[in-house]
Amino acid sequence: MSAKVLDGKQVSGRIEADLTARVARLKDRIGRTPILATILVGGDPASATYVKMKGNACRRVGMDSIKVELPESTTTEQLLAEIARLNINPDVHGILLQHPVPAQIDERACFDAIALEKDVDGVTCLGFGRMSMGERAYGSATPAGIMSLLSAYDIPLSGRHAVVVGRSPILGKPMAMMLLAANATVTICHSRTQDLPGMVRQADIVVGAVGRPAFIQSDWIKDGAVVVDAGYHPGGVGDIELGGVVSRAFAYTPVPGGVGPMTIATLMRQTVEAGERLIR
Ligand code: NAP
Repeated sequence: MSAKVLDGKQVSGRIEADLTARVARLKDRIGRTPILATILVGGDPASATYVKMKGNACRRVGMDSIKVELPESTTTEQLLAEIARLNINPDVHGILLQHPVPAQIDERACFDAIALEKDVDGVTCLGFGRMSMGERAYGSATPAGIMSLLSAYDIPLSGRHAVVVGRSPILGKPMAMMLLAANATVTICHSRTQDLPGMVRQADIVVGAVGRPAFIQSDWIKDGAVVVDAGYHPGGVGDIELGGVVSRAFAYTPVPGGVGPMTIATLMRQTVEAGERLIR
């Protein structure tokens, strides 16, 4: 039997259709649309592509976006000043600072300068802490998108053992807290974990968020597991060697077309929510 495909393209399409209707309602009622400000620092081509994709997604659902582009030489202070301007701009409802920023910038300080009510990408410490405590906050977009995808396919999480490989602030850590909030038993693995294959073998749900192409081997994954691959590398390869899993897993996210489109749809959904709250 082949595994169920967790089709992020299809689910994100449904989310975008709902958002298009919500944006149109706001426009009809108040004559304004939610606006996402994207900040791109430097010339990294992959980051430029991600920002462009987010701008395109805004257009697809009828929202506006403001593109802020800053040079590679930008300092922390200059970026903080730009964020401060966007925080007080009443026309901006969500702020996305594209990660990573050039090395001379204190990225954490800049993320944390984003006003909580505009932190639609879920990158602030305050938002993470609130989300972890079950208080209202926008979730980090990639793990929140993964949770929506699992929910769209009614994947049971309660009491299941989830193994998250990776502990980055925007992916592994918030992923683990979201799975915990859904009553999974969570193990977080990282570069110092001993016997990673043995850890992954215990997983009912495995999330690959390592940043290394096809690093998690298919023979580490037990039969009937749910396999979520957050990775994306040139050539359409994820962090998990998916080939050997397709016939044995219960369900898996394809690469591309799994987690990626859900990240963007989640960013759009959270921006529309921010717009609905902030536009009066
Ligand atoms: P990251 O910041 O580089 O973090 C990678 C994590 O993997 C770290 O916690 C690291 O552990 C761990 N790791 C590295 N080598 C390992 C090893 N040999 N064994 C076990 N763990 C190891 O990456 P990220 O930003 O979380 O991204 C992870 C992946 O998700 C990437 O492929 C990225 O392209 C993808 N991504 C996709 C989206 C999307 O929208 N689809 C969004 C964001 C990221 P330490 O903490 O110990 O160093």
